[in-house]
Amino acid sequence: MTHDPAAMTRDLSTLPAQRPSLYRLAADGRSLDFLFAQCPACQALSFPANAPGCMHCGQAIDASAQVLRPGGGTLLEYVTLHLALAPGLPVPGIVGDIRIADRVVQQGLIAVDDESRLHPGMALRARAQPLASGDGYGCVFVPDRQAAQ
Ligand SMILES: [Zn+2]
Repeated sequence: MTHDPAAMTRDLSTLPAQRPSLYRLAADGRSLDFLFAQCPACQALSFPANAPGCMHCGQAIDASAQVLRPGGGTLLEYVTLHLALAPGLPVPGIVGDIRIADRVVQQGLIAVDDESRLHPGMALRARAQPLASGDGYGCVFVPDRQAAQ
């Protein structure tokens, strides 16, 4: 992992989230909180929060069901991509399936240099990463102990 001192000390709170409907900067100024919808019927969390219904039981949900939770989860599987499958993806880059809540799995970019630092079942934390364009921050996942530093 290369540490960019400028990025580490940069005040991200002045930047907008690249996808504000999905995540917000957490109180520590580096981690991300994810925006979920908590179902009023079954209490389960759905993601993204702006879905029209609970992804578990189908109950209609509205903005009042939205809750912020620390972003992170359990790494299920991952692959190193050597082709940019979406604009802005670094190449090579590691993309993983991450369980961010009970029965909620999302794909995310994992900010480690190579797969040898990863294993299925490990805990990941969501972290804000300044966009190359400088006009906002995106979401990457890092091993949990690294995020705690
Ligand atoms: Zn439900």
